[in-house]
Amino acid sequence: MHDPDFPRIKLDDLVADYPGVFDSARYVDVGIGWLGLVRDFVAEALPHDPALVVHEIKEKWGTMRVWCDTDVLAARLAKGKAEAKSGMTCEVCGAEGWLRRPPPGRMAWWRTLCQEHASPDQAAWGQQARWTAGTMQVSGQWYRYDLETDTMIEIETPERFR
Ligand SMILES: [Zn+2]
Repeated sequence: MHDPDFPRIKLDDLVADYPGVFDSARYVDVGIGWLGLVRDFVAEALPHDPALVVHEIKEKWGTMRVWCDTDVLAARLAKGKAEAKSGMTCEVCGAEGWLRRPPPGRMAWWRTLCQEHASPDQAAWGQQARWTAGTMQVSGQWYRYDLETDTMIEIETPERFR
């Protein structure tokens, strides 16, 4: 089941705007509201890794996932930042959003949506975040998105991974 009921980012636009980066991308299927996040990610990562290649961008559990080839820490953190911010950015319009997570037993897509684009149903589900929201791990070091500084900051390893 899939409901592409809102405009998607067009892979062709990314290919044209960032020569080389998206040429071999197989799949880009996220809402246009996240285009700014994708652009910020590439703009931030490219200077650190000019050989950056993005393979795939998709939505999973309501937030954006980016698959790319880079071993450069700054580029990986830029990717993590974009993914983290997708959990607080409406996938439809790019405004501030919240992860709309269906209650247990209810079969429905998780989506990150603003007040305007959430259905009454979705709005009633509350605004919970997954425990992993905004965190990532690179070579054993954990990072968390910090809203105040708009950067990924180092954190202690979460308890369940110690
Ligand atoms: Zn919206």
